Amino acid sequence: MRNFDAPTLVVVDAYVLALLGALLLVSAFQGQREQALLYTACGALLSAFGLILSLLRSDPDLAAIVVVISNAVLIFAHAMIWAAFRAFSRQRQRPAWMLAGSLAWVALSLWPLFQQSSALRIGMYSILCDVYLGLALREAWRLRRQGVAGVLPAVVVLGLQMLFYLYRLLVERVPPILGADQSGFALTMFESILFAVSLSFVILMMVRARAERQYRHAALHDDLTGLSNRRAFFAQATGALAKARARRRDAVLLMCDLDWFKRINDACGHVAGDRVLVVFGDVLRESIRPGDLCARIGGEEFVVLALKADLEQGRTLGERIRGRLGAHSTDTLGRLSVSIGIASAAQADYELDRLLVRADEALYGAKAAGRDCVVAWPAAAAALGYPP
Ligand code: GH3
Ligand code: MG
Ligand code: MG
Repeated sequence: MRNFDAPTLVVVDAYVLALLGALLLVSAFQGQREQALLYTACGALLSAFGLILSLLRSDPDLAAIVVVISNAVLIFAHAMIWAAFRAFSRQRQRPAWMLAGSLAWVALSLWPLFQQSSALRIGMYSILCDVYLGLALREAWRLRRQGVAGVLPAVVVLGLQMLFYLYRLLVERVPPILGADQSGFALTMFESILFAVSLSFVILMMVRARAERQYRHAALHDDLTGLSNRRAFFAQATGALAKARARRRDAVLLMCDLDWFKRINDACGHVAGDRVLVVFGDVLRESIRPGDLCARIGGEEFVVLALKADLEQGRTLGERIRGRLGAHSTDTLGRLSVSIGIASAAQADYELDRLLVRADEALYGAKAAGRDCVVAWPAAAAALGYPP
């Protein structure tokens, strides 16, 4: 490290930071525009600019002003890291507090003792940077406590960087820019590259993890009611039925189809129809027990898989659902009702396809019986002439 002179190290550091900044900027504008990447990119680009500016310190006429401005820019770059984490957690930015660190630095620079004492400047620089890193760490920690995945690496990277500044403040006392101790300065420059690379990587990881979660949620849920969709239901129900079979516990499938739904759409419009679907989704959520599954599998067709329940309990649940939907009837919408067909998993050998066919047959039985009722397989099927 001793073979590199300070300006070369600064140029290398600035080059890496500028490159990272440019790449982050490109990824910030790809797909969903991600503000957190934008702030991280600005932080990296500002750091690169601050470092290049610091090279002008070799000119004695400019040295004093360069120390003030380049470090103010570098402190502001740290404020950008805080802003990136606020942006990620969708919080409003605080421009005044973001600028406060750099302004405090400029104000202190008017103080002659501060201008003369490099130890004081190093100490202050480390403290101001640590404050912004601490604020970013607080945001990251809050995200982690909210259960946001992929945040732990960010907590570690920010925590380590804070420790590094603390170490510099208490032990090493390496000037932030162009110090006399060459090996310590080289360490600072390499550490800064390491931090910038790690931080960019962990923020990209956080953004990617969140996007993946959103896409996964969209792929498995119905947009209108927020219930599981057909794909999710089939996957969850297959697993739940295998468990029920292993434990020899019955389960009941309820196939629900809203009655005369087309009339609601025709008479009150599609928006009103959609509202009824949302209401029915809420009715199902309120009616099932924790662990039971429910999903919207078609236009106005919903299913419930009630676990640890027999046909009789399934019927009671169906009646509760019917009653709760009926309570949402209004003069405009008319009477809201649902027909429900139920079938036992044990009787269908815990096979989802067979269970769905039987519950569907029972549902047809309910429609044939005049709607607004709960009918169990096989009674309904037999009445309709289906083979048992
Ligand atoms: P039945 O009592 O026999 O079930 O009669 P129905 O009118 O409910 O049955 P049908 O299958 O004839 O009509 C279902 C209607 O549901 C037709 C379609 O326009 C409507 N629909 C399907 N998906 C949606 C949706 O997402 N929103 C709204 N508003 N309507 C939907
Ligand atoms: Mg239907
Ligand atoms: Mg219907």
